[in-house]
Amino acid sequence: MGTLLHQVFQAGLLEDVPSRQFLEQHAKEVLLNNLESLYACGASERSTHSILIEAIPKMLNWYKSFMKGSKSTNVDFGHTEGRKTVEVTEMMDIEEMAWAPRYGLKGIIDASVISRVNSCGGGSYDKVMPLEFKTGKSTSGQSAMEHSAQVILYTLLMSERYLNTDIDMGLLYYLHTDQTLGIKVKRSDLIGLMMRRNELASEILKASFSQSFPAMLQSPSSCTGCRHLTSCTIYHKVHGGNTATSGLGDLFDNLVNHLSVAHHNFLKHWDRLIDLEARTSQVKKKEILLPLHYNSGSKSSAPSFYVLDMKNEHSVDSSGKSKRYIYNFVREKMQPEAAGHSEPQAESLDFNLKSGDCVVLSTQSGRIAVANGSIRDISRSHITVSLSRRLRLPGSSSLLEQGDLQRELWRIDKDEFSSSFATMRFNLVQLFSQKPQNTKLRKLVVDLEAPRFDSGGLFSQDPALSYIQSLTSLNNDQQRSLHKILAAKDYALILGMPGTGKTYTMVHAVKSLLMRGESILLTSYTNSAIDNLLMKLKAEGVDFIRIGRHEAVHPDVRANCLSTTEVQSVDAIKTRMEQVQVVGVTCLGVYHPLLAHKKFDTCIMDEAGQITLPVSLGPLMLATKFVLVGDHYQLPPLIQVTNPLVFLFT
Ligand code: SF4
Repeated sequence: MGTLLHQVFQAGLLEDVPSRQFLEQHAKEVLLNNLESLYACGASERSTHSILIEAIPKMLNWYKSFMKGSKSTNVDFGHTEGRKTVEVTEMMDIEEMAWAPRYGLKGIIDASVISRVNSCGGGSYDKVMPLEFKTGKSTSGQSAMEHSAQVILYTLLMSERYLNTDIDMGLLYYLHTDQTLGIKVKRSDLIGLMMRRNELASEILKASFSQSFPAMLQSPSSCTGCRHLTSCTIYHKVHGGNTATSGLGDLFDNLVNHLSVAHHNFLKHWDRLIDLEARTSQVKKKEILLPLHYNSGSKSSAPSFYVLDMKNEHSVDSSGKSKRYIYNFVREKMQPEAAGHSEPQAESLDFNLKSGDCVVLSTQSGRIAVANGSIRDISRSHITVSLSRRLRLPGSSSLLEQGDLQRELWRIDKDEFSSSFATMRFNLVQLFSQKPQNTKLRKLVVDLEAPRFDSGGLFSQDPALSYIQSLTSLNNDQQRSLHKILAAKDYALILGMPGTGKTYTMVHAVKSLLMRGESILLTSYTNSAIDNLLMKLKAEGVDFIRIGRHEAVHPDVRANCLSTTEVQSVDAIKTRMEQVQVVGVTCLGVYHPLLAHKKFDTCIMDEAGQITLPVSLGPLMLATKFVLVGDHYQLPPLIQVTNPLVFLFT
């Protein structure tokens, strides 16, 4: 609900004079754009719409009190600063993503504003500041402290992003009480927060290097309602903790008593591998986040730089669910001395970038992560990037903005750090939670129970079997593979060298399972592998839904994405999701809201030999049985480790 209220409030902030009609209309659009999330959390449009409409008078009151031309409202900035009148004179950005590598902090700021501040003793000045919007009911005690801390950290993030050290105030608006507080950064608060941040960073580092975790709080009142209870107790047990050290008594036992020593070792092994890969990715991330001259010692090739294409700079694409801003960049030959390399690097190409990749845009002048988006098109000489919002340089005035963007030298880096590690760890913990639906998978994957196969009986009258036998185009191996898939009660493994017709076999596996009335989840690590299979199924007239980002999905199957079809209500989504039998999604995309209530009879995973176990668990947990298709004699999945000896000797 909070996200939706934010969207309505933020839309009003961008208007010169937001009216009730405008906000009501926007509330309808927000509702329509968030149908999938409403479906996932089981909320009705009617009640959600009522909550949005009820909040509008308070929002209007805020705009009237604080926005340009308002009466300038008194805000309390605490006992040392006292009360000051504040008027927001410029709305610079909303949902601004700010990274401060120097502090190891990252955040998304509700609104970045310039306010005219008048102190009661006279004198006025303009200040860049964050405006944080809170929609929850907690406005005092611990929550209020956390909210103030958040605003203080945002001032720090904005100082880095705007290259402006004078950002030391912020605004905190509580919708529930219709109250706005002023936050003035005090040095002592900032030091306290940085010390806590350092403690947290040191615990994370310790856990990543030596797999030692901090002690549990031993506080049933805090732990019982904690959303990390399952993962916290599992990790505590796996790393030698027990009922006494958890302080949770029977609750702890109920959550972890099913875990055996073999389970502990399995989890620790894979968690360690994820740590190592995450650490390697941190090294790469550092190279992106540090200003270019700090990277001069790096062994990796020099990055490529781009300038905005003056002839065809940008356009807006409104064909998808939400507007996309398309920017065209032309590759610029980098000056070797600027890149810190002794030899010209003009021929180094971004081989690691491809269409559909998520990317981060930074500038050579030191502005890090100015925007993020995805690649729509790429060649030797140009990159077309799709962004969810207009590209702007922080602090650039609207009059000079265009020229500023064109003068910049842009660096475009793959954003591979987003959420994959968190998803992998989440998958692992889910496998070891005592949820009944994961017990079977745990027995097969960790305890290595032998898979069961149907030995005949009713199987001989199966329409799927008759269908396969009628296919004269299948060779013996393909026939045997399909029989194995149909007979599997737990899982089947299909091995096929390149060119042996694996995709053709999978198409008929899907068609035959559909004849039995089964629902099927098709998955792989890459979008291209799924789309390759889906295009063949489409040619065979099979109905399916494709879940994925517009840019990453092949144009020939985009029409099968639910967002581009005529789905106008939560009920329509529910009906479609209940009716559809085949869904295609990448392994890391299975936590999409559309799959929140969907379970499948069979999961077919293509290129399974190249997918790491923690990644593959996500889709497998959504199905009763699974089929892994691939060739493990080809390149297996790799865990990237900067120093492999670390793994052998630690
Ligand atoms: S369950 Fe773990 S993370 Fe949550 S409050 Fe307790 S000790 Fe902290």
